[in-house]
Amino acid sequence: MTKHRTRLAPSPTGALHIGNARTFLINWALAKQRSWDVVLRIEDLDSPRIKPWAHQQAIDVLQWLGMVCDEPALVQSAQPQPYLDAMKSLAQQGQIFRCDLTRREIERAAAAPHQSPSEGPSENRFPRHLRPTQKEAFLFEPTAASSYRFQIEDDLVTFEDQLQGPQAVNVAADIGDFVVWTQRQQPAYQLAVVVDDIRQGITDVVRGDDLLTSAARQTLIYKALGAAVPKWWHLPLVVGPDGRRLAKRHGDSRLITYLQAGVPAERVIGLIASYSGLCSTPVPMSLDDFTRSFVLDNIPRQQVVFTQESHQWLLADSSSS
Ligand code: GLU
Repeated sequence: MTKHRTRLAPSPTGALHIGNARTFLINWALAKQRSWDVVLRIEDLDSPRIKPWAHQQAIDVLQWLGMVCDEPALVQSAQPQPYLDAMKSLAQQGQIFRCDLTRREIERAAAAPHQSPSEGPSENRFPRHLRPTQKEAFLFEPTAASSYRFQIEDDLVTFEDQLQGPQAVNVAADIGDFVVWTQRQQPAYQLAVVVDDIRQGITDVVRGDDLLTSAARQTLIYKALGAAVPKWWHLPLVVGPDGRRLAKRHGDSRLITYLQAGVPAERVIGLIASYSGLCSTPVPMSLDDFTRSFVLDNIPRQQVVFTQESHQWLLADSSSS
């Protein structure tokens, strides 16, 4: 029987916050209760947004919370070859094509009058009529400063989410042919995450539900690469009081702030426990207790709101430690 494996996959584009902690802790508890391996991956390919300090900080914060993974971290930027191999394989199947159009050109074409009404304008969608017709566009040139797109069919992509049930995503209508390789000569997120999940042997992907529709695109890539599609577990996000995903505008919710203020990790874990259906109000809790008492069916199915009261509760006795 295959050993189940899951991963924590922070992007060092900024500091990890309470929302990241919640996803990671739920992932951790699920895995430990079911004897899955948990591995770490640093998703550092989004180069313009990468912050040099954020990689080590993510490791420090995870360690503070007690989440020490089973293997040394896979750092995406350290090994470009697997992404190149995947691109070669997709190119051999005629699955990807080179695209030098700017975002503006694509937007303009998507809104152009000759488009069929059923296609409906979408600023993010790549309209089918922009696909190249020349054969050379379907060859992969890793050194070209071009992006490459994955050519999709019109069919609905269906998959089962372990938390959100059956899904049917119309990738053609929503996104169209999507980018798998960027002009910076690097894999785009959609490709990198699939290649890495395959090479890390990931069987269960647990993450925020902002990536639910990405699972459809990733399913297409898995299939094109002939790999087994993992099980998906998409968790409702932690949001600010305005219902938008947690961000700077909601005040400080960075885990490093609490660590540096001397807040015990048990307080963060206790707050997350109250956000995960383990208790109705936060009480400090160890990682072991969180893991033991976690019940999948009790996770709230709607978004959780991080408030200033939560922030104050976390800081409440930090001066005493
Ligand atoms: N690195 C992504 C993030 O921090 C997660 C990607 C994934 O889990 O597929 O949001």
